Amino acid sequence: MSQSTDVVVIGAGVAGLAAASKLQAAGWQVVVLEARDRIGGRVFTNRTWEIPVELGATWLHGTEDNPLMELVQQCNLKMQVTNYDNHWLYDTKGKLVPDNIQEELEDCLDDVLEELDTLREHMEDGDEDDISLQDALEIVLSHWKLSPSQRRELDYAIAAEIEHEYAADCRELSCYYWDEGEQFEGDDSLFPQGYDQLVEHLATGLDIRLQQIVQQIAYSDAGVEVQCDRATLQAAHAVITLPLGVLKSNAVAFSPALPTRKQTAIQRLGMGTLNKLVLHFPSVFWEDEAEVLGCIPKTRGEWVEFYNLHRVTGQPILVGFNAGSYGRNIETWTDSETVAAAMQVLRRVYGAAVPDPLKTLVTRWTADPFAQGAYSFIAKGASPKDIEALAKPVGDRLFFAGEATSRKYAATVHGALLSGWREADRINNLH
Ligand SMILES: Cc1cc2nc3c(=O)[nH]c(=O)nc-3n(C[C@H](O)[C@H](O)[C@H](O)COP(=O)(O)OP(=O)(O)OC[C@H]3O[C@@H](n4cnc5c(N)ncnc54)[C@H](O)[C@@H]3O)c2cc1C
Repeated sequence: MSQSTDVVVIGAGVAGLAAASKLQAAGWQVVVLEARDRIGGRVFTNRTWEIPVELGATWLHGTEDNPLMELVQQCNLKMQVTNYDNHWLYDTKGKLVPDNIQEELEDCLDDVLEELDTLREHMEDGDEDDISLQDALEIVLSHWKLSPSQRRELDYAIAAEIEHEYAADCRELSCYYWDEGEQFEGDDSLFPQGYDQLVEHLATGLDIRLQQIVQQIAYSDAGVEVQCDRATLQAAHAVITLPLGVLKSNAVAFSPALPTRKQTAIQRLGMGTLNKLVLHFPSVFWEDEAEVLGCIPKTRGEWVEFYNLHRVTGQPILVGFNAGSYGRNIETWTDSETVAAAMQVLRRVYGAAVPDPLKTLVTRWTADPFAQGAYSFIAKGASPKDIEALAKPVGDRLFFAGEATSRKYAATVHGALLSGWREADRINNLH
């Protein structure tokens, strides 16, 4: 079956829904094609338990001037502020790290970051001269006299503050550009009733076709033809919001091939991993006043943080996070192996009597064929110019949106939203 429309939007994540709703409001006939049997993409609220649990994005980062706030107000969504400073830290033996040592650790990380900035200022040209953030850290730390336990503590802080935020190991991140991008001021907040409500709101009134796996996008002066496993759709323009991981995998063929500069950008930018393990226990056995439980690991980067969802949901739930290479490794484990690894850490802190969880949820974002990662990062050797190249339209046929195309706000829900609106404006301005 072949059909035609004005604009075809590929992907019903936040970027695709934002583009589609703005285009439809401007009078275009729009069809959204989505591979999954649900909308939202990497905003994915599990509703099989008694309370909503986020398996993808959790937080709205920065409430001031954040464009998501307009939608939050429109659907009157309840928000709860997160205070990351409400953080309890445990050492490798499971003992609570005193406040003064935690403060020293924070100061130490600040000093390291300052020295990294100085090092970066001496690098002449980010693209040519780039080294990994890990190599830069080793240069900085070679002048420091850290004991093995101090180094372990610092590595914990780096994993929690940098590797979890960017979903990548420091050895993957660009020293020059790893922290490129901007943030909104204000609190980070989450949605106790579910992030998916915001997505549902964005999707109102749109023609969204689920379980349509796009396989090929052909384009010419005459228009665009999008081939799915089940149907073919013709349009004047396509907005492509495929995640960077999907673009990297070549699961969707372009005919003719995409311009070389765009292909280079796809190769050079990184797609990171951040996975969650959600553990529902019979009762709370941890400090309920804490929002985040930090655990200095014996092996770098493993199970460094658990988030206390009891404060948000009233249910005895902890969420463990793993990023980068360890996050990728555990995707190959069975659910019970992953749970056992987390329980070893929790029992080290809270004792052998800690009960097994009653139920669990395990994410595998990199194995997910329609995400192939959690979110993008600037890898060693890449630069913000690659983000711009990824975002650049191909003629007046193909338009690219999605978090990885947002120079200022990559890796976020608001970045995805703004990128969708940006491409809708671009199409609106054509005529
Ligand atoms: C674990 C995790 C935690 C996160 N935490 C936060 C957070 O707290 N705050 C925050 O702001 N951001 C967070 N993010 C990032 C945020 O979720 C994303 O940046 C954002 O949702 C991306 O939206 P998007 O529209 O660009 O892509 P997506 O949501 O991935 O949308 C792309 C859509 O394309 C579809 N698709 C893929 N292949 C095909 C195909 N062949 N044919 C048709 N459709 C296809 C996908 O199914 C998907 O629905 C997190 C992400 C993850 C994974």
